[in-house]
Amino acid sequence: NEKIMLAERPKGLPTKDTFRFENEDIKEPSEGEILLKTLYISVDPYMRSRMNDKESYVPPFKLDEPLNGGIIARVEKSQNDAFQEGDIVTGRLPWQRYTTTDGDGLQKIDESIAPLTAYLGVLGLTGLTAYFGLLHIGEPKENETVVVSGAAGAVGMVVGQIAKLKGARVVGIAGSKQKIDYLKEELNFDYVINYKEDNVLASLKEACPNGVDVYFDNVGGSISDDVLSLINKFARIPICGQISQYNKEEAERVPRLQPLLLTKSALMKGFIVGDYADGFKEAVEELGKWVRDGKVKYEENIIGGFENVPDAFLGLFSGDNLGKQLVKVDE
Ligand code: NDP
Repeated sequence: NEKIMLAERPKGLPTKDTFRFENEDIKEPSEGEILLKTLYISVDPYMRSRMNDKESYVPPFKLDEPLNGGIIARVEKSQNDAFQEGDIVTGRLPWQRYTTTDGDGLQKIDESIAPLTAYLGVLGLTGLTAYFGLLHIGEPKENETVVVSGAAGAVGMVVGQIAKLKGARVVGIAGSKQKIDYLKEELNFDYVINYKEDNVLASLKEACPNGVDVYFDNVGGSISDDVLSLINKFARIPICGQISQYNKEEAERVPRLQPLLLTKSALMKGFIVGDYADGFKEAVEELGKWVRDGKVKYEENIIGGFENVPDAFLGLFSGDNLGKQLVKVDE
């Protein structure tokens, strides 16, 4: 049984040396346990923060232990009445080809409702993050201008589409021509900015002649400084992620924001999707309906092979993915 361990805590951008592959025998399930075969592994930017030896909203990964995260797996053997052979489950599981567990915290999923991979993306963590951050903090209204950074990623593309459903004008910021074309042509974003090629501030001024009412921040750094310079009175700013900062060894010193927030009566609020756990069931139902009705589209970037999990993770920081980044491990 192959597994991927945290070999060392990275300084800056992780490298291949951050990870180590190990082998062990598969553990047969004993009474009350199940044996799972991993089918899909989700790689997510927040995992970078868990590689640091620092307490956060999730505890750090332990050195010389397998990394873990959102996984879809099939029950191969069951000694637990709650699970049957063939059941498909999702939950937080270790980066291993096979896992033996008591099944605690796992949720059964149904392929007849949505493709399995959707449960790691649009109907999973990233879809829910977009849903709650935008609707509960951003609260976009008709004809308002919503700007979203990381717009072609798993969270960002759902944010933009929900904002459009609510009648807002949507401006997306992303890092490649392919992504820009996709947002414009497939998702009908009103304006898109390639932050690697365009002058971000000048483009934002053109894109937002009436200012910015909602800024959904996935990336932080200078992109966010530019957007914030254009906020309107009563703007709402959900702070979802700061991917541009995750590999920095020292936090950047930034201008103080209190005068801006004060003079604009603006709301800036950080959130963790788990804050909204009580509402997940209804949110998944609504997101599922939007997906079935074709109102919310989603993309997945699926790489094959367990050996490619580290590369898939690293690709998040170079922007290799359009939509949700997943690794297919087995059939
Ligand atoms: P994405 O699918 O958006 O993948 C990450 C993307 O970030 C890349 O594709 C890349 O796109 C962009 N990126 C990478 N480095 C930079 C940089 N230096 N500056 C600007 N953009 C960069 O990931 P997710 O949708 O899973 O996550 C998006 C954000 O949401 C992350 O910050 C994540 O931490 C956060 N998040 C927060 C949650 C919460 O509960 N608060 C839950 C889940 C995610 P590009 O080509 O455009 O550069």
